[in-house]
Amino acid sequence: MNLILLGPPGAGKGTQSRLVEEKFGLMQLSTGDMLRAAKTSGSDMGKLVAKVMEKGDLVTDEIVIALIAEQLESHPDSKGFIFDGFPRTLAQADSLANLFEKKNQRLDKVIEMRVEDEALIRRVTGRFNCTVCGEVYHKDSKPSKVKNVCDNCRAVDSFIQRSDDNEESFRTRLVNYYRDTSPLIGYYHAKGLLNSIDGLLDINKTQQNILEILGA
Ligand code: AMP
Repeated sequence: MNLILLGPPGAGKGTQSRLVEEKFGLMQLSTGDMLRAAKTSGSDMGKLVAKVMEKGDLVTDEIVIALIAEQLESHPDSKGFIFDGFPRTLAQADSLANLFEKKNQRLDKVIEMRVEDEALIRRVTGRFNCTVCGEVYHKDSKPSKVKNVCDNCRAVDSFIQRSDDNEESFRTRLVNYYRDTSPLIGYYHAKGLLNSIDGLLDINKTQQNILEILGA
């Protein structure tokens, strides 16, 4: 099964795709995570994208499509993929369709997570994550059970806030979402693949709604 989670920054795509990944044995492909890893590694590509990401702008289609193509190529036996933060433009969506076609595979579903702008900004500016396992927290709605200790991997003092999770970058990311990414809602609707859910509900309820769409 191949699945896309579509939604603005802070909609909960990362959190939900991790849960679906566990449940279905699918592989989560987050272009944001891949780009952050490239930044941390200090590679040429990482250096190239660092400033763009910091500002909240979109990295070029060529770079992200190459990252996804490489992942699909190197995991031929995967039971399927959950795309988180990809595609973000119509060109990326077309490239993904081509990649699937070449592999005789198909996209099964697209789930759009809808959240209003003001809730998004509260979510994004309050969130932080564990640098060891990636678990995502929020200072109000999902703090760690023990201060400075990750609930998931027990790492101590491993929490960090993303450098683009500030109000200024968030506003740019939101504009980019409405301008470049939201046309994908119509694109996938026309292909009969779109399902929309309320992403404002709590994590468990949202997860249930996603599982229902997936027929689980
Ligand atoms: P995310 O973790 O999905 O919020 O992505 C963080 C940042 O990485 C975005 O604000 C973009 O700068 C960049 N990025 C991630 N995925 C893409 C993509 N599919 N296309 C272009 N830029 C991306």
